[in-house]
Amino acid sequence: MFIFRQSDQVHSYIQSLINRNRTIAFVPTMGALHEGHMALIEQAKSKAEIVVCSIFVNPTQFNDPKDYRHYPNRAMEDKRMLEAKNCDVLFMPEVEEVYPRGEENYRLNIEMGSLVRLWEGAHRPGHFAGMMQVVKRLLDLIPAEFLVMGQKDYQQLAIVRRMIEELDISTELVGVPIVREKDGLASSSRNLRIDPDLRPQANTIYHCLKLAKKNWPVKTVQEIEREAVENLVNHGLRPEYFSLVNGTTLEPIHEKDPAESVVALVAAWLGKVRLIDNMIIKN
Ligand code: AMP
Repeated sequence: MFIFRQSDQVHSYIQSLINRNRTIAFVPTMGALHEGHMALIEQAKSKAEIVVCSIFVNPTQFNDPKDYRHYPNRAMEDKRMLEAKNCDVLFMPEVEEVYPRGEENYRLNIEMGSLVRLWEGAHRPGHFAGMMQVVKRLLDLIPAEFLVMGQKDYQQLAIVRRMIEELDISTELVGVPIVREKDGLASSSRNLRIDPDLRPQANTIYHCLKLAKKNWPVKTVQEIEREAVENLVNHGLRPEYFSLVNGTTLEPIHEKDPAESVVALVAAWLGKVRLIDNMIIKN
């Protein structure tokens, strides 16, 4: 695996591969890799000849500076996992390499409307602007044919899809289904921070999502949402939202429309850890 730390070097290397007609799939991450990330690498492998992974903890997408400072750094272990999956290229830049002229000079000005304001956007102001900024910047450096991202962050995926359309970027976005731990909890680097006494409760989120899907044909939207919130609270979680939404616009659904795709989105606190998850209810 080739490791690059400098933007100009990774860019010229990738460009030389593109000039030789090699297909490239790119997997952006913030490190502290786990099985969810490994599924993205596998999907990338199946799509292209060369897989490029980036590990960059992007300061501009953190609304809480403490969260940014404490983001886990497990570079050695991450490298080992990527080597084991035969990842071809790893890009691990410092902040100055990604934003050499200062981050304010790389801000994007695209109108995303409610897509960035709802759900995670409402709870983490500025998060999606920072996320779009870094994805665009990384794609400028690594103009891959495929960009591989996880459905774990459903809203992020929807926003990147729209951004690629709006900016007319010639990269194809590939979404990878959520990887879960044995009990159904979606894999996340945050899971290690869950208090072991509370950990058995964490799978309630998955149970609520499955129940919502099962009940979709027989219950109203309001009944499904109310039941999920009650279940979460009864199992010691503190839900921020559990909502059935339109799969493209992410606007809340009130009535059932047969033509509409539906996703359940959830965010809930378990002790000091905030967990997000989702499930496609209907395509
Ligand atoms: P992160 O390092 O948390 O920024 O995540 C990097 C990528 O991995 C994003 O595209 C995430 O959606 C994806 N990802 C994280 N956890 C999972 C998971 N459990 N299943 C599938 N994809 C995931």
